[in-house]
Parts: sequence; structure tokens; C-alpha cells
Amino acid sequence: MDNQELPEAYQLSLRLLEHKSYQELTHQLIIILLEWPGILDVAAYEVFMLTRDANNSDDYSARRFPLSLDDCTQDENQGVLTSAIQSDRTGLYTHHMDGDEYLIFDISENVKPRRLLIIKGKVSDDEQALLKGLLQVYERLVILLDSKERDNLTHLHNRQTMDIILNQVFEYYQRNDASIDEKHSWVALLDIDHFKDVNDTFGHLYGDEVLIIFSNLMEKTFRHSDFIFRYGGEEFIVIINRLSKADVKMVLERFRKVVEAHSFSFGSITVSIGYTFVNPKVSQRVLLEYADSALYAAKQNGRNRIEYNDQNRHDANDVDDVELF
Ligand code: GH3
Ligand code: MG
Ligand code: MG
Repeated sequence: MDNQELPEAYQLSLRLLEHKSYQELTHQLIIILLEWPGILDVAAYEVFMLTRDANNSDDYSARRFPLSLDDCTQDENQGVLTSAIQSDRTGLYTHHMDGDEYLIFDISENVKPRRLLIIKGKVSDDEQALLKGLLQVYERLVILLDSKERDNLTHLHNRQTMDIILNQVFEYYQRNDASIDEKHSWVALLDIDHFKDVNDTFGHLYGDEVLIIFSNLMEKTFRHSDFIFRYGGEEFIVIINRLSKADVKMVLERFRKVVEAHSFSFGSITVSIGYTFVNPKVSQRVLLEYADSALYAAKQNGRNRIEYNDQNRHDANDVDDVELF
């Protein structure tokens, strides 16, 4: 980079530094890159490796950014993405596929989940130095923001991030009417059954391992358009998007069975689940209370089961008026 380019690099870095969340930061980076001559398309991914075996790079789950409520299974980058995940190169490098040229930026060190940027197009050698500097700033910011937004143990989004994302889902349903019999969003609260016994019998470290595996099972079972969080302790939340009332039940039931069928070295665990529909007419706190009372019912009714709260009951504790649609 020569001296003339320094003010430009500084300006671009400032545009990144303004953003205080990973979502906003990545959105801004994509805007900057698309302004670049020669760059045709940019996609960002979070990649979760689901096995500990470093030689097995097939077992992964990749989530495309920006998070979308709709499942975008048709991703034109699938081929490039797979070879980038299987490559052991990191940082910025060039990749050719089917006559197209790509720049891949792979952040795997000090970051979980791994991040990949797939940039379609090419930049001149001079501009590559500027691009590399910009991406290094982005990488530092991602590491910083992750420490704020993610849980240290499972690397899932934490409770604070859930508040922000649930709010975005609320805003979506404030703008768009949706029927719960066709496509809607749902909040499910998941709690591992008798988890204290796992800790008491096998120790806290083993308990931690179980929590990591549980979060991997969630990543693997739910779709890319569903949002997963560690709510605290052995409680997790999934926001399931754009599914009918009948389908959401099936999806949760499938996850319950996946957990039950997974064999840990000591045997198996089970999970209880309570869920309700996203209703932007009540506060987030009340919505989570609805999911929690369904979870409580699942525990009361014998655990390893799923209960639904249809928000028809008015408990004495409810502060907000519920208006059903
Ligand atoms: P229930 O079926 O009613 O949910 O029973 P439970 O034993 O799962 O529930 P309880 O709330 O009594 O216990 C939760 C346990 O989770 C207690 C706590 O020590 C453990 N726990 C919370 N966070 C962590 C963690 O980060 N690591 C480990 N290993 N254990 C944790
Ligand atoms: Mg609990
Ligand atoms: Mg529990």
C-alpha cells in the first residue's frame, strides 16, 4: 500500500468501526465491497464444524448472512463454499471454479464459528493490498464483537443477542400479516432433563461437553433460517421461522428424538420443550413467559416431551393485553 492509499484505507476502516454488532458490521463490509470495481457479488457465511475430527471437513453446517426468515436452500455458491471449507488455506486467497474467479477470505483462527467471505470477481494487484488491510480490520472487529454477542462455551448467540434478533422478528410480523396455519415464526424454549444429575455423576467438565454436543445437534437439526441461542445454563432457545403450526410441531418432535437417540459415553439425555407463536402484540418478556409456562407443563407432564402454549389463557401475572389474530 503506498502513501496515497492510506487515507482511503483509513476512511474505509472508519466505516467499519462505526458498527456495534456483527450483523451491522458484516452488512457494511458487503456494501463497501460491492462498491469496488471488479467485484460482482459478496456472500458471508458462518461455518460450524460439527465433529472434533479435524480430518472430517464434511460434517459442517453453514449459515448464510444476512440472516433471513426464509430458508434459502438454493445458494449459488454451494460448490465454492464446499471447496473453501475443505481447503486448509486461511486469510485471503484466489479460487477458480467453473470459469469464474473468486476471492475467498477465511477467518478460522481465534474465531468460532469459522467465517468465510466469498467474493465473486477480481481486483487489481494494487487494490488487493487495500482489500487485505480492510479485511484484517474486519477480522479484528469480528473477534471483538463475538466476545460480546456469543456464549463462550457453545459459541451460540447469547441471551443479549437473542433480545435483538427476536425484536427483528417482531418487526417483521408488525409489517407482514401471517397466518399460523400457513407460515409463521415460533419461539421454543428447550431445557435438558435432569441435567444436574449429569454434573453430579460425571463432573462439571463432562457436563460442559454435553452442552457443546447438544448445541451441535441443534445446529445440525434446525434449518439455516432458524435462529439458535444459549439462553443460560442448560436452557436454549430456537426461533423457528416461516413454518405452519403443523410443521413446527413436527420439527420440534424430530429434534426431541435426535437428542433421545444420541449416545453419549454414559448413555443418553432427553430434552423438554415449550413453545408458542411469535405475537408482536405482546412484549418479548410476556412471549418468553408463555414459552416458559409450556416448558413447565412439559416438565410436569413427565419430561422428554413438547407442549404448546396457544396464548389463549390469561394468567393473573400477564401484564399486557393479548390480542389474537
Ligand atoms: P429438570 O429436568 O427439571 O430441568 O432438572 P435439571 O437437573 O436439568 O434442572 P436444574 O435447574 O435443577 O439444574 C440445572 C443444572 O445445570 C444445574 C447447573 O449446575 C447446571 N449448569 C448450568 N450451567 C452449566 C454449565 O455451563 N456447565 C455445566 N456443566 N453445568 C451447568
Ligand atoms: Mg433449567
Ligand atoms: Mg434442566
